[in-house]
Amino acid sequence: MTELAENLAENSAHTAARSVFVTGGNRGIGLAIARRFAAAGDRVAVTHRGEAPPAADDLLAVRCDVTDSEQVDQAFKEAEAAHGPVGVLVANAGFANDRLLMRMSDEDFTSVIDTNLTGAFRVVRRAVRGMLRQGHGRIVLISSTAALHGAAGQTNYAAAKAGLVGFARSLTHELGARDITCNVVAPGLTETDMSRALTEEQRRHLLARTPAGRLGHPDEVADAVAFLAAAGTGYVRGAVIPVDGGAGLGH
Ligand code: NDP
Repeated sequence: MTELAENLAENSAHTAARSVFVTGGNRGIGLAIARRFAAAGDRVAVTHRGEAPPAADDLLAVRCDVTDSEQVDQAFKEAEAAHGPVGVLVANAGFANDRLLMRMSDEDFTSVIDTNLTGAFRVVRRAVRGMLRQGHGRIVLISSTAALHGAAGQTNYAAAKAGLVGFARSLTHELGARDITCNVVAPGLTETDMSRALTEEQRRHLLARTPAGRLGHPDEVADAVAFLAAAGTGYVRGAVIPVDGGAGLGH
């Protein structure tokens, strides 16, 4: 755990445990995020389609494919029954299916949009209902540096991840003065199954454009999410926080 994480964990230890819901929290970045909240004493539900998260982690595993609104509703019901109304939502589930435009089928394009963008819409809509009743909430959407810079072969993925930015900012307007925030974290290349699927040449190319000279660690993304979910960050709204080793120099 990083020093920032320890400080955030210590701060949260002084506040009541929250009900946290992380999509795709069974592995990769989502699991690191879920572990961060659990370490701070929060009650954390994670969605999975295939493999559940490791049993050693004290996480409530709920089955859910974010492309299906009924499964989303059922997963929230299970989380709410166990942990109470969801106060923190992290929409992290996502996948890439890279292809140059001329070889991209309708299905290649729409399936990536359906999970990464419409999936986030489905879970946020479901979560906001309870947050409005509670008068409080923290929503964090996991985007990507691809949203801001684009990448050859990623017209589908970059469009979906860029869509999350417009979504978060529009929702910020809708939520107005309520203490419910929606922000975006945009990771750069991070060490998970997703980045392990890249070729050596793709990795070299991306690292050459990353001042930090290394891949990010899922815990570093979790740090940014924990910050945006903290009770004291209610004035941070509609922001995009890059966690990319400087690849985008703040953008
Ligand atoms: P992984 O491939 O390791 O994990 C992806 C997660 O998303 C899994 O938990 C997976 O669940 C879940 N998921 C995928 N599709 C669906 C779906 N239809 N319904 C529900 N869950 C689904 O990826 P990462 O941990 O690397 O990625 C996490 C997020 O971070 C993604 O949104 C990704 O786009 C983003 N990101 C990742 C970067 C990286 O370099 N790794 C860089 C920038 C952004 P299951 O196990 O059931 O398949």
